Amino acid sequence: MSNDAVPFWRRKTLTEMTRGEWESLCDGCAKCCLFKLEDEDTGEIHQTNVCCQLLDLDTCRCTRYGERSKLVPSCVTLEPHHLDEFDWLPTTCAYRLLHEGEDLPDWHPLVSGDPHSVVESGHSIGKRCIPENEVDDLQDHLVAWE
Ligand code: SF4
Ligand code: SF4
Repeated sequence: MSNDAVPFWRRKTLTEMTRGEWESLCDGCAKCCLFKLEDEDTGEIHQTNVCCQLLDLDTCRCTRYGERSKLVPSCVTLEPHHLDEFDWLPTTCAYRLLHEGEDLPDWHPLVSGDPHSVVESGHSIGKRCIPENEVDDLQDHLVAWE
């Protein structure tokens, strides 16, 4: 197999990728738009099913993507040079998987060739989360996402 036949995510490190390649790794699951709680004693991260109110639950996309950092200071823009901060990302996130030396899953659109495979495989959270403005206590919404 020639080198060009090997997908870019297998032959390049995250820091070697073009901006387009980097962006294409995001599968659009929106799990990173969910609120998380950190155990003060252990540092363990617990996931919730409560999402940022700027998330469009139908499309699973940010409604204010260009202004997200200004409007939501806690919204982290992922960059290759922040690799060591990625341990809070969901275990299915392509950036975390590749950073940890894993491959992309079969349902990732880059592998399946189908943009709908994230939803069909159950990895999109769009229809399964609650906007933050409808929730009183995050503690009541802890979930373990795959
Ligand atoms: S968790 Fe990762 S793959 Fe999913 S939307 Fe966020 S950055 Fe993209
Ligand atoms: S601002 Fe947009 S990208 Fe950031 S957490 Fe909210 S919905 Fe997600």
